[in-house]
Amino acid sequence: MTAFEQERRNKVQRLPARGQYEREEVYRIVDDALICHVGFVIDGQPFVIPTLHARDGDTLLLHGSSASRLMKHAGAGGALCITVTQVDGIVLARSIFNHSINYRSAVLFGRGQLVTAPEEKLAALACFTERLLPGRWDDAREPNRKELKATAVVAVPIDSASAKVRVGPPKDDEEDLALPVWAGVLPLGQSYGEPLADPGAAAELPLPEYLAAYLAARRE
Ligand SMILES: Cc1cc2nc3c(=O)[nH]c(=O)nc-3n(C[C@H](O)[C@H](O)[C@H](O)COP(=O)(O)OP(=O)(O)OC[C@H]3O[C@@H](n4cnc5c(N)ncnc54)[C@H](O)[C@@H]3O)c2cc1C
Repeated sequence: MTAFEQERRNKVQRLPARGQYEREEVYRIVDDALICHVGFVIDGQPFVIPTLHARDGDTLLLHGSSASRLMKHAGAGGALCITVTQVDGIVLARSIFNHSINYRSAVLFGRGQLVTAPEEKLAALACFTERLLPGRWDDAREPNRKELKATAVVAVPIDSASAKVRVGPPKDDEEDLALPVWAGVLPLGQSYGEPLADPGAAAELPLPEYLAAYLAARRE
């Protein structure tokens, strides 16, 4: 896998040592995150909208209501800036100034293309569903024609991207190291809770095996 070329819009200026451009690094951050924020400008007004995403190679997939402003703009080839953020810890320094966050984030640039072929749309929706929970696509009912029509899928070939990562302990100034102030990192992550069955279910069903296996693998 090659790196993204460093150019004006994707080159990390502030703390450039934290910048990463290898596709593998950028895509790992993208794939680890459940949601992204899509930024776009209409008539000079910027909007940043949170949404789910899935990745297919060098293409990011978005989906949503065919009536949504975001999907209409993205599907018409509008310029997009898509960000993904993972917070890994709160960095507590001895000085207020050096407090920080441990994070992995990615910024992607591209223009959307509406996916119209039904089989491509279905494949994209399968990609989204399997990302939420592997095994779900084969279990739940597939979208019917009406539902497919109501759902827009937009493919965004990733033209340019960057990642920025902060890891490790606080970086206090030398003269602050002797201060009697606790310093370190408060790790922060996301975890799954216990599954809650839908109270409206017609019958009580056992937890699907793929869900139990998924949870078990993440709790090891
Ligand atoms: C969870 C989190 C919290 C943060 N909190 C703060 C804060 O409180 N204050 C603060 O100043 N900064 C914070 N940052 C860093 C912030 O995201 C920017 O990197 C920083 O503010 C510099 O912005 P800029 O537009 O001047 O970047 P520039 O370096 O000028 O940006 C140029 C290009 O570098 C790339 N780039 C910049 N930032 C990122 C990024 N985070 N991830 C991937 N690519 C990037 C983009 O392609 C961008 O177009 C935080 C980051 C994260 C992930």
